[in-house]
Amino acid sequence: MGLNWSSNPKTANNPIYLTLSETKMMRKPNHNCPLTVVFLALALLICSTKANTQSSTIFLLRHGETVFPPYQENPPNPHLNDAGLERARLLAKMLRSEQIDHIFSTDYRRTQQTIAPLSEAKNIPITVYNGRKLEDLARKIKGLRGNIVVCGHSNTTGEMVQLLGGRPGEKIDRQTEFDRLYVLHQLPNGQTHTVLLRYGASYQRQTATATVQRKIAITIDDLPAVTLDKSNANYQDITDKLLSTLEKTQVPAIGFVNENKLYRNNRLDPVRLDLLRDWLASGMELGNHGFAHKDYHRVSFREFAEDIKKGEKYTNVVLKEQGQQLKYFRHPFLHTGNSSDKQLQLTKFLKDNNYVVAPVTIDNAEYIFARAYELALQSADQELMEKIGNAYIPYMEQKTAYFESQSRMLFNREISQTLLIHANALNGDYLDELLQMYQRRGYQFVSLEEALKDPAYKSPDRFTGDGGITWLHRWAITKGVDRSFYKGEPTCPEFVQNAANIRE
Ligand SMILES: [Zn+2]
Repeated sequence: MGLNWSSNPKTANNPIYLTLSETKMMRKPNHNCPLTVVFLALALLICSTKANTQSSTIFLLRHGETVFPPYQENPPNPHLNDAGLERARLLAKMLRSEQIDHIFSTDYRRTQQTIAPLSEAKNIPITVYNGRKLEDLARKIKGLRGNIVVCGHSNTTGEMVQLLGGRPGEKIDRQTEFDRLYVLHQLPNGQTHTVLLRYGASYQRQTATATVQRKIAITIDDLPAVTLDKSNANYQDITDKLLSTLEKTQVPAIGFVNENKLYRNNRLDPVRLDLLRDWLASGMELGNHGFAHKDYHRVSFREFAEDIKKGEKYTNVVLKEQGQQLKYFRHPFLHTGNSSDKQLQLTKFLKDNNYVVAPVTIDNAEYIFARAYELALQSADQELMEKIGNAYIPYMEQKTAYFESQSRMLFNREISQTLLIHANALNGDYLDELLQMYQRRGYQFVSLEEALKDPAYKSPDRFTGDGGITWLHRWAITKGVDRSFYKGEPTCPEFVQNAANIRE
């Protein structure tokens, strides 16, 4: 499906409007409080309630739109109208993939009908509470384990949020505002992080001062392409598809180059060099990923450093044509040195050569999907290709939710994320859907430079293990956080690993 993205994320403070479904306004959040306001569209997976088994998540909402017959201004117990019933179905759909353990609702037709589809889908009975005794409900909820949904009213929902330690923001407009969905996360420091989502048909009072709080930088490795079909036509095809999506959606990205891929039969191929020019012409950035993608944990510092210098040659040429220069280095395999000596040597070398390290927070097994996808393509197995493609976006969304949760546990907030993907055929076909997923989750796409302004990236990293792991885990390991912190990381589906013939 193709979305028409009507905003320019490069313009500061512009709201992003989706035309696919009814999406929303948001108000400027109070900057002193842990209240995040994000956009929401159809069929999203909201938060990482599965990823983090230690803390519970509480969803709070009011009932949907009700029937108000014109002759009766305020009927005592109205039922939902069509819009309200539709919203109730949407709620069940949205929370379908979330772990839910308890459902609470008042005993009115409108609240019961709002929560009924979710209760049925999850096979969890509705526990009735008294809307006039909210302290009792808050006490009860605090004593429960697991994830909880509370359906109430315009005048109870905000109060419940407050009683549970969250920030309700402005009062709910009783007449028109049916789209708020609060998500409260318990933070390790005992505070509550409040995410205010909007779902379903939109609340009328839209405002132009909206701002998106989640930020992500898209980084794409192994340029010009990492693919089984090493023909120039395929390299060109992958490049064209990636760049047309990035241009259409006006999403900034940085590509990390392996210059050995610019050669064919030991000679520089000008067609491939032009692919790098295409990236720059589309307004994207380029960085160094080593000439031959060497593994720092398998070669000496000297050999690795030479490979970095060798990998600058033609990238420098095309950057110079645009009046730019090399700035970022991305470690192949995210291997930064498996001893402190080696790590320090490389860090110093990069600094002396004016490189900024490009970290990754959302690390993932997209390369396994990509290999499975290309093998299926080679054997013309259309059905398997689709199956892999259909599993790819939900997998990336689960990974993202997991790292959002890790960020909240480590920093008590959501940091600007950096995503790692590769220049491959899978992303040629699915980058558009991948970006839509991030947009649904309320992300603003930013440059790597912008993402790295987040002070989280100044956290110490003294990880010297062998793994090529996310910086979130490096920071956590350096801080010495408990093992349970790492629990629940989503894995690549078995059938994808089998199709790729790679174990994660
Ligand atoms: Zn790579």
